[in-house]
Amino acid sequence: MNLTIASGKGGTGKTTVAVNLAVAATREGRRVQLLDCDVEEPNCHLFLEPETERRRDALVPVPEVEEAACNGCGECAAICRYNALAVVGSSVMVFPELCHGCAGCWLVCPEQAITRGERSIGDLVEADVAGLRLAYGRLNVGEALVPPLIAQVSALRGDADLTIVDAPPGTSCSAIAALSGSDYVVLVTEPTPFGLNDLVLAADVVRQLELPCGVVINRAGAGDDRVHDWCRREGLEILLEIPDDRRVAEAYARGDLVLDAVPGAADLYRDLMRTLMARAVEGAA
Ligand code: SF4
Ligand code: SF4
Repeated sequence: MNLTIASGKGGTGKTTVAVNLAVAATREGRRVQLLDCDVEEPNCHLFLEPETERRRDALVPVPEVEEAACNGCGECAAICRYNALAVVGSSVMVFPELCHGCAGCWLVCPEQAITRGERSIGDLVEADVAGLRLAYGRLNVGEALVPPLIAQVSALRGDADLTIVDAPPGTSCSAIAALSGSDYVVLVTEPTPFGLNDLVLAADVVRQLELPCGVVINRAGAGDDRVHDWCRREGLEILLEIPDDRRVAEAYARGDLVLDAVPGAADLYRDLMRTLMARAVEGAA
């Protein structure tokens, strides 16, 4: 089962749900993989504390121009939709940070003066933690190519009973990239007007992608009933309500697993995992 944990905004407890759900499933004897696709701010590993990690550069294609072969025709710059090339006289300037690696320029060059090079946009990291396989991406500071790094983290998907993706918050193309390949989406929100506003936006995106989804309400009891009312009207299942408990925030701040720090939390996450597995079976039927 491929499960994505998403939210309309940051700070709702999305990563807490992803990590604790992954550990709960591992402790039930399932083969679990956790992919942290929040590549601008990955933090699942902070809670799992892997002792050793395998790191490599996340590479994307970029043009390399051989000036001696260039005739200055300008066809490469003309085809580039991202303004990543400029031809000045008989010289071609490349702006690598704007390049999306589409290959158009080296395919169109009549002199074969452009070849496919590579540059790093960040790190790809893999680790094994107590039976759980963890992978995450870490984008270089100032780098804009978020979706290609998310795609590379997603490509690390391996053989597992349950793959959990921690998606970036929001409804941008980055969040949509992380939803690719999902069987089911868990939307994490809070029972506040802001939480409801962002939940509506996130649910709209998930529905447009025609993915089944349910809702986890974090800090239940801290706000009002508008999220509950809206879910009822929209026919969205509330999968779990995590009580507003100071001990959850304290565990998060210490980098501890809520499962281990808060009595009763292990049962909540085990029940959530079983509910999601049941939804997967129903979806496949
Ligand atoms: S398309 Fe090729 S030959 Fe023409 S300007 Fe670009 S690099 Fe030079
Ligand atoms: S690979 Fe595509 S995006 Fe990059 S410079 Fe060439 S045409 Fe532009």
